[in-house]
Amino acid sequence: MTATRPQPRKGVLQIDAYVPGKSSAPGVTKVFKLSSNETPLGPSPKAIEAYGAVGKRLEDYPDGSSSDLRDAIGRVYGLDPDRIVCGAGSDDLLNLLARAYLGDGDEAIHTTHGFLVYPIATLGTGATPVVAPEKDFTADVDAILSRVTAKTKMVFLANPNNPTGTYIPFDEVKRLHNGLPAHVLLVIDAAYAEYVRKNDYEAGIELVATSENVVMTRTFSKIHGLAALRLGWMYGPAHVIDAINRIRGPFNVSAPAIAAGIAAIEDAAHQEHSREHNTEWLLWLTEEIAKLGLHVTPSAANFVLIHFPHNKGRTAAEANAFLMRRGLILRQVAAYKLPNALRMSIGTEEANRLVVKALAEFLGQSA
Ligand SMILES: *Cc1c(COP(=O)(O)O)cnc(C)c1O
Repeated sequence: MTATRPQPRKGVLQIDAYVPGKSSAPGVTKVFKLSSNETPLGPSPKAIEAYGAVGKRLEDYPDGSSSDLRDAIGRVYGLDPDRIVCGAGSDDLLNLLARAYLGDGDEAIHTTHGFLVYPIATLGTGATPVVAPEKDFTADVDAILSRVTAKTKMVFLANPNNPTGTYIPFDEVKRLHNGLPAHVLLVIDAAYAEYVRKNDYEAGIELVATSENVVMTRTFSKIHGLAALRLGWMYGPAHVIDAINRIRGPFNVSAPAIAAGIAAIEDAAHQEHSREHNTEWLLWLTEEIAKLGLHVTPSAANFVLIHFPHNKGRTAAEANAFLMRRGLILRQVAAYKLPNALRMSIGTEEANRLVVKALAEFLGQSA
């Protein structure tokens, strides 16, 4: 039968559109946005300055190949700039990877509580997302490998993962890679790599450098504090970089993003300061929230996943409403199959203390 109106391709209407974290609380003037894992410290002042300078030349197209930014990233990480592609956020790159490597009938694997962009990008190509169960809210390499079929073309692994905050050690990432057929692309999304302080963790640079089927994506939205500008980058084998360069938008990164990105990645002191703030308050929040009797999943990133009881009056949804009335905006994660949890980004000292105090009140204890 001929359709009476245009029809999107197969898969598109199966997508549950991504719902971003809230940024305002009704009736509250002072809010603390702890819902999207943004940094409480803001970007490097040098990035803000570089961004401002571009305002005088808005009529010019950006450098379509982001050369200076790729050179800067290459210098900082010791990478060949020709094996880097920049994008409008890592979301852009994840979608480009899906578009380049997935199509009707293909399968792409992600884990139960994996980042929601993976199934969205997969379905948009006509391919099928396949879910591999996790263990203790952590990616399980054996479960992922057991889901590989002749149709599998891609595996998405967020390491650390959002919204759980858990990570798998580099040995496990290598074991995953070793178990995958050579034609399956392993996408390591290392959006939170800069925050991780674990001896057995690596973002994946070495694995990308030594194989033909691994890419690593990174973002400027988290530790670099440039979420508003939409900027990410990917490191991969030459043949994957070539494919992505063919399908990406010719000017997919804006000039202000390029300028701010260069300044941000070169400001090691600002990154270190942000990392130290995070390490200190991640530990403090994990301990203080646990003292209230709530379970917190151990996190290696810049947020914590807080689990609430099922009993009425104490649920995650009720806690969320309670905190919201106080201007404390956390993230509900039911869409991540975590209806009994809230995700909280590590905030300023003030915000962190207010959340613990409010949670104590919510639970009927005094802090
Ligand atoms: C925040 C986040 C990103 C970054 O996305 P951008 O498009 O670069 O802002 C990527 N992956 C995960 C898992 C994230 O949580």
